[in-house]
Amino acid sequence: MPTHVDPVCGMNVEEAEAAARRDYQGQTIFFCAVGCAETFDREPSKYVATSETRRSWFRRH
Ligand SMILES: [Zn+2]
Repeated sequence: MPTHVDPVCGMNVEEAEAAARRDYQGQTIFFCAVGCAETFDREPSKYVATSETRRSWFRRH
């Protein structure tokens, strides 16, 4: 069974047991709880590492 990392809390989430999922920029993201998905909805770019956010991470560190 595929396992995914919930980007909000960092937990491993099995696909079949995910409480919520979102499609974001062509990827499906799985969450352990509806509350994590709601946190993600408020600021999705904070939790998904696009190439752009990775570049800005390098600039800051
Ligand atoms: Zn979570």
